[in-house]
Amino acid sequence: MAEKPTPTKEFSRLVGPGAAKALVTIGITDQRGLLFHFPRRYLKRGEYTTLSELRVGENVTVAAEVVDFSSRRARNGSMTLVDVTVSDGRTRLPMRFFARHQGTVHGLKHALTIGTSAIFSGEVENFNGTIQLKHPEFEPFDTGDVLDDLRAAHEAERPVPVYPATAKVSSLLIRRAMRMVVDPLHDGEVNDPVPAEIVERRGMLDATQAMRMIHRPHAEADYRRAQHRFRYTEAFLLQTALARRRADIAAYEATPRPPRPGALLDALDAQLPFALTGGQLEVSAEISADLAAPSPMQRLLQGEVGSGKTVVALRAMMQVIDAGGQAALLAPTEVLAQQHARSIRNLLGPLGEAGMLGGAADGTRVALLTGSLSAAQRRQALADAASGAAGIVIGTHSLLNEKVQFADLALTVIDEQHRFGVEQRDALRAKGRTVPHQLYMTATPIPRSVAMTFFGDVEVSTLREVPAGRSPITTHLVPVDRPKWVARTWQLVAEAVERGERAYVVAPRITANGGDDGADLLDAPDDKRPLATVEEVAELLEAEPVLSGIAVGVMHGRLPSDEKDAVMEAFSAGCTPVLVTTTVIEVGVDVPEASVMVVMDADRFGLSQLHQLRGRVGRGSAPGTCLLVTGAGEDTPALQRLKVLTETTDGFVLAEKDLEQRREGDVLGAAQSGRGNSLKLLRVFTDRGVIEEAREDARRLIAEDPNLVHHPDLLVAITQLVDPDHEEFLDRA
Ligand code: ADP
Ligand code: MG
Repeated sequence: MAEKPTPTKEFSRLVGPGAAKALVTIGITDQRGLLFHFPRRYLKRGEYTTLSELRVGENVTVAAEVVDFSSRRARNGSMTLVDVTVSDGRTRLPMRFFARHQGTVHGLKHALTIGTSAIFSGEVENFNGTIQLKHPEFEPFDTGDVLDDLRAAHEAERPVPVYPATAKVSSLLIRRAMRMVVDPLHDGEVNDPVPAEIVERRGMLDATQAMRMIHRPHAEADYRRAQHRFRYTEAFLLQTALARRRADIAAYEATPRPPRPGALLDALDAQLPFALTGGQLEVSAEISADLAAPSPMQRLLQGEVGSGKTVVALRAMMQVIDAGGQAALLAPTEVLAQQHARSIRNLLGPLGEAGMLGGAADGTRVALLTGSLSAAQRRQALADAASGAAGIVIGTHSLLNEKVQFADLALTVIDEQHRFGVEQRDALRAKGRTVPHQLYMTATPIPRSVAMTFFGDVEVSTLREVPAGRSPITTHLVPVDRPKWVARTWQLVAEAVERGERAYVVAPRITANGGDDGADLLDAPDDKRPLATVEEVAELLEAEPVLSGIAVGVMHGRLPSDEKDAVMEAFSAGCTPVLVTTTVIEVGVDVPEASVMVVMDADRFGLSQLHQLRGRVGRGSAPGTCLLVTGAGEDTPALQRLKVLTETTDGFVLAEKDLEQRREGDVLGAAQSGRGNSLKLLRVFTDRGVIEEAREDARRLIAEDPNLVHHPDLLVAITQLVDPDHEEFLDRA
């Protein structure tokens, strides 16, 4: 399997054996591989060689040669100052680097020896009257004649592509090899997976033209058009794969489960302690119509924390039970599975206790299947699922276990769906006699562009309004270096407890040596402070005078599941009104008395996750307070980011902000990264327009030619795009 890659003969001949050998180290073995190695950016006229025109405050990129290098300890001794002077032959430009470690100094010395040519990017600053570049990024070239190369392009006023490069494979080497491959391309030589009709209708470049223009542009407009064209291709392939998947699922047979008036659903509605909101009614109607159709529903229900998704899902479950089927509810954690079981049993009351004392005779039963059941309980739950006595079966991924049999599985509801991979979704789907309808629920607001990219194969329903009577949440920042503020934080916790309320204190990690329960933690390369741990925060609170006499519980993913239950019960009941926890309580956990949320090292969490966390408080009658404890310094980007949370509680706004600050692969975590990784140029956030167009085109094409028999190149391209698990569905055609 692990065969060492070698360049093809033709490629070696074309670019030269030396270059071919070097290119292998970055995974390029043939012309096609090289062609799809797109420039990272372009240098334009005026952005280089004109060292004499730099202005303070500008971010610039310059190409120059190192003419002087020196280093010395800073006066306070904690850092080394590295001074490098570069020149373009006419003008000299000093630059300064700050190095904390000797290793960094050595690295700089090695990379920037006198005579080295490199491209430097950074901000121009005025230092004691002299212009200099502060801590620039740089990219050395392996030969001295780069300046000639740049000058030639400069004279011709052409943008110069800069390629992702390594120490061994410079951008210049790539540029030269590229010329050997691009220049001889003849029209139509680059295979274009997008049908010509679409390319023409959208007025785009064809693939070969785009390839020429992305690597050998004459002007900025050239590479912009080319980039757009490749972005469109990426979006189109993804959307075609999704449209196919969608069509594929729609082609399965599902049992229609229309509503049955006068049965359990109506009985549930009649006994609900509240009136459904307009949004709940609307979304319920969409789901109800899907369930009555003969092809499987694929719907994502998204709604803010507390927007009332559970009752919407329960109404869907009742509809299928009324039609003789069963529903399975899959939760990402045991805590959540239990929580769902509790709230669903509450909402159902006697309707969910058929066969039990006081239960409604024509009701149904709720089975909870988790890892912590006794053997007897488990047998009972499995029997109820298999016989159909349980209309609702709730569990974690253990529901996917083959031993779980259903009499007639009609609907699967998957809570927090982005945590489940596609394979797991498919495994559950395989349990029905016909294909069950599927409803995915998520409290993480998903911007439309992301929904289209990652969930293009499902329909999306959104609950925007939160039921009336919800208390507002206020959010404050608490700098750790302000002891008074920190003290006030614990004071607020104590006061809440005195009023009979509860408080969560969230820490990013369980112990110093690890365990974050899947928290969405951001890298902070400059920040070497150890993260707060549940362990240490619990100790801190025990020792905190204002909290004396208040019992503190501890919750995290490493506890055995019966202990987790006990901890949640004790918190919910108020025996331990303060709970120190990881983000395991992020989703779903519903303790109406909880009114205060303290998050330690808040700057290290993603915005959406913090929003999710604070949604845990203010769910009852007491208004919620969220306190974000942070060590991020004033005026740092990290602090600016957190401030957004104090300004808005709109999850969609926050999700978009969050997205802006992330790389694509991180957007929805590892579960979706298979799809994310295939995106080269497409930026989900900024390319929404392209994604919309591509989706429209892809859906139309799939409607006309579902199996792509008339578009074999496209079929090959999407088969390569999706991961091997997905290929199976593509092959089935
Ligand atoms: P989500 O799952 O979307 O976070 P839940 O379904 O858990 O929200 O609902 C949060 C709380 O609001 C629950 O206690 C639920 O009973 C209550 N609720 C749901 N719908 C309504 C409504 N229309 N009016 C008042 N309260 C509601
Ligand atoms: Mg919920």
